[in-house]
Amino acid sequence: MAKDYKKNKNQGSSRVSNGPKYDPNHKKQTQVNKVNGGVFEYTGSITVTELSKQLNVPVSDIIKYLFMNKKMMVTLNSTLDDEVIGELCLNYGYDFKKEKIVDVENFEEIEIHDDEKDLVERPPVVVVMGHVDHGKTTLIDTIRSSNIAGGEAGAITQAIGAYQKEIKGKKITFLDTPGHEAFTAMRARGAKMTDIAIIVCAADDGVMPQTIEAIDHAKAAGVTIIVAINKIDKPTANVERVKEEMMQHGLIPEEYGGDTIFKEISAKKNIGIDDLLETILIVAELKELKANPKRYALGCVIEASLDKNEGAKATLLVQNGSLNCGDSVVIGTAYCKVRKMVNEHKKVIKTALPSTPVVVTGLDEVPHAGDYFMAYSDEKLAKQVADKRKLDAKTKAQKATSAMTLNDLYNQAQTGEVKSINVILRADVQGSVEAIKSSLEKIQNDEVKVNVIRATAGAITQSDVLLASASNAIIYGFNVRPDAAVRAKAAEEKIEIRLHNIIYALIEEIEGAMKGLLKPIEKEVVMGQAEVRQLFRASKIGTIAGSFVTDGTIKRDTQIRLIREGVVIYTGKLGSLKRFKDDVAKVETNFECAFTIDGYNDIKEGDIIEAFEIQQIARG
Ligand code: GDP
Repeated sequence: MAKDYKKNKNQGSSRVSNGPKYDPNHKKQTQVNKVNGGVFEYTGSITVTELSKQLNVPVSDIIKYLFMNKKMMVTLNSTLDDEVIGELCLNYGYDFKKEKIVDVENFEEIEIHDDEKDLVERPPVVVVMGHVDHGKTTLIDTIRSSNIAGGEAGAITQAIGAYQKEIKGKKITFLDTPGHEAFTAMRARGAKMTDIAIIVCAADDGVMPQTIEAIDHAKAAGVTIIVAINKIDKPTANVERVKEEMMQHGLIPEEYGGDTIFKEISAKKNIGIDDLLETILIVAELKELKANPKRYALGCVIEASLDKNEGAKATLLVQNGSLNCGDSVVIGTAYCKVRKMVNEHKKVIKTALPSTPVVVTGLDEVPHAGDYFMAYSDEKLAKQVADKRKLDAKTKAQKATSAMTLNDLYNQAQTGEVKSINVILRADVQGSVEAIKSSLEKIQNDEVKVNVIRATAGAITQSDVLLASASNAIIYGFNVRPDAAVRAKAAEEKIEIRLHNIIYALIEEIEGAMKGLLKPIEKEVVMGQAEVRQLFRASKIGTIAGSFVTDGTIKRDTQIRLIREGVVIYTGKLGSLKRFKDDVAKVETNFECAFTIDGYNDIKEGDIIEAFEIQQIARG
C-alpha cells in the first residue's frame, strides 16, 4: 500500500477509496445500521429492538406507534420492512438512507461517491451512428486524420476501437466502430460508456431505416444526440427535408423550438467539421462530465482479441479513476497485471486518465466488449476476485439467465414487483404499428407501464433482438415472422418473441400478464420451413408449389403460414403434400416436395411456408 502512495504521490493519498462503498481492498462490506448526522443509515432488515436502540426511542413507543397508526402488531424481535423503517425514522425526526451491500467481486454494482473536490472535467465519449453509406466512416476518418496535422504527425496510428482528438486544448474520445451494432452489443452487456451520439444522415438520402434504429438506440441509452447532416456538398442535398424527417422521430432542431442540435457538414470535403467538434465540446461542458482521477480505475472494454504474438489483449476505456502501470486489474472475468499500456499511436503511457482509451496486454483470457473492469491495489485480491467471477460466470451460464419473458412478467405481477415492461413492436404495415402502439400505451395501469421502445413496420431483425437484449424487452410481432438467423439470435440472447395475427389477442395477452392473469401459455412451435422454388398451375387444383424443405419437417395436416419477405401473407392448411406423384404424410429437411394451400393460390417463387403447431404450456 505504502508503495502505491509513493508511486502516485502527485495524485495524493485519497487515490484510494473515499468511503465504505468503494474500497477495492475491502473483501466484503458488513451490515451497518447507524445514525450519522441525523440520518439513519442501514443496510438490510432490522428488528424493533435494534431500531429503538439506534434512534434512541423506547421500544414501547415504537410498538405503540405501529399499532395505533399502522394496525401492526410487532414484538421486540419483529423485523421491519423499508417502508416502516422510513416512516418511523421520519416520525422520530431522522432522515433515512438504505445502503446497498456490495461485494468487491461485483464491481459493476458499486456506487461511486466521489468527493466534489476530487472531481475534474473529463473528455466526452462520442459514438457515430447512422444509415449505411451516409458517411460515418468518412466522418470518423476526417476527424482522425486532422489530428495528425495537429501534432501527431509521423505517429503510427492503429485501430484500437477508439481514439482521442484534441481541439482547443480539450480532448474528445471517439469510439471508432461506426454503427449501432457494436454500440448495442456493448450496451447489452450493461456498459454505459457513451455520452454523446452523432447521428449522421446524408442530406441527399434523408432518414432511412438504420437512421431510425440509431435514434432508437441512442434514446434508449439516454445519450445526448447531435444530428450531423452530411454530404451538403452534393447538389442534390436537401437539408430541410432531413430536418422535417428527423422531427417526425422526435428530434426537433433548436430553430423550431426543440433542443436537438443539428449541424450541416461534408465529411468528405471537410466542411463544418471543426464546428461540429466545437459543438461536441459545448455539449460536453453543459453535461458537466466529471471524474475523479485519484481513485483506482474503473471502466469498460471497448474491444478485445487474441493476438498471435501478444496473447489476450483489450482496449479499455477508463471511465473513472486512473489506470497505472503496475495495477492489478480484473476485466470481466479476466485478470491482468498491467505491465505495459499503449494508446492509439502505439505510444507507451504510464497513466491513463478518465475517458482515455488504452490497450493492455497479458490478460489471462479474452474478455467481451462491454465488460466492466476495475483496478485493485492488491494483486492477490484481484486474482481471487477474477477467479470468483470466472466461477460465477460459469454457474450463471449453466443457469442461463434471460431477459424478461411474459412468464416473468406474469410472476412479477402476481407478487407486485413489476414496474414496467419494455416492448419492441414489429408489424406488417405502418397502420397496424400505430394501432397496436397506441392500444398498448393505453392499457397501462397504476402499477405497470408498457414502454414501447421501438415500433416499426417490417420483418423482425437481429438489431431488434440486440435492442431487446440491451433493454430487457419482449419482441412482439404482428403478421411478421423472424427468419432462422433472427430466431437463432433470439435463442442465444434469451429473448422472447411473441407472434400474433389478431390485434386484440396481442393486447389481451400483455394486459393479462400485467394483471397477473395469464391463461396457460399457448406456445407455438415451428415444425419446419420450406422454400418455394417453382410454380405449376393446374386448372382444377390451383397453384402447386414445387418446394425444398430447408428446416425441420413439413407435415400434411399441420397448420401453415405463407411468408413473403418476412411478412405473413396467409395462414391456413395445406391442400395436398406430394413427393413426386405420391401423396405423403410428411417431408423432411433437404427433400423436395410439392404442395398446394387449401383455399389459397397466390403463391410466388421465393415464398416460405412454415409449418407450426400450437402447444399449451402450463404456467411455471
Ligand atoms: P458509412 O457506411 O456510413 O460508413 O459511409 P462511408 O463513410 O463509407 O461513405 C459512403 C460513401 O459516401 C463514400 O463513397 C464516401 O466517399 C461518400 N461520402 C461520405 N461523406 C461524404 C460527403 O460529405 N460528401 C460526399 N459527396 N460524399 C460523401
